[in-house]
Amino acid sequence: MSALTDLYQKMATCNRCGLAAHRSMVVPGEGAENAEIVFIGEAPGWNEDQQGRPFVGAAGQFLEELIASIGLTRKQVYICNVIKCRPPENRDPMPGEIKACETWLDEQLRLLNPKIIVTLGRYSMARFFPGESISKIHGKERNQNGIVYYAMYHPAAALHQQKLRETIQQDMLKIPSLLAKAHTIREPEEQRPQQLSMF
Ligand code: URA
Repeated sequence: MSALTDLYQKMATCNRCGLAAHRSMVVPGEGAENAEIVFIGEAPGWNEDQQGRPFVGAAGQFLEELIASIGLTRKQVYICNVIKCRPPENRDPMPGEIKACETWLDEQLRLLNPKIIVTLGRYSMARFFPGESISKIHGKERNQNGIVYYAMYHPAAALHQQKLRETIQQDMLKIPSLLAKAHTIREPEEQRPQQLSMF
């Protein structure tokens, strides 16, 4: 069993916050265990809660289109959420719920060790770009400790707004060049302590 599968088994019985009482299934995340790109959304919705898989509804379909636009499939990347259980009525996640889930996501990212972390939407952005606003930083990257962090709008927000849709499509198209850059920065940065360059 892989370390990630082992982690999923532990998540399946998580009781760290009140969402445990409402969920049908925990939605840990899925994709290639050696993925170079990890997409992190907000929280499972109804479809995801039923299936135990992230981004399987309308937003997921759009995310798959976006991933295809850079020549990849969802099996070649990794997709997960900031929180692993569906908030009732699809309300926004609460700070305590995000906090309770923090170590799951941290451990997932530690095991995956991706080159690029793409945040989808405000809640995911807030985790890696605290205090920033999505309208300002979407489509911009930050390199930290050999990982490229890149903020994008949430595909669900862009589904029905043509302007946002075009913006998210354009932002996605920058990822291949970021990945190429990430390949060149990782090795030197791994040798340096805490190299930080913002935007
Ligand atoms: N929105 C998210 O943020 N995550 C999902 O898995 C589905 C919709």
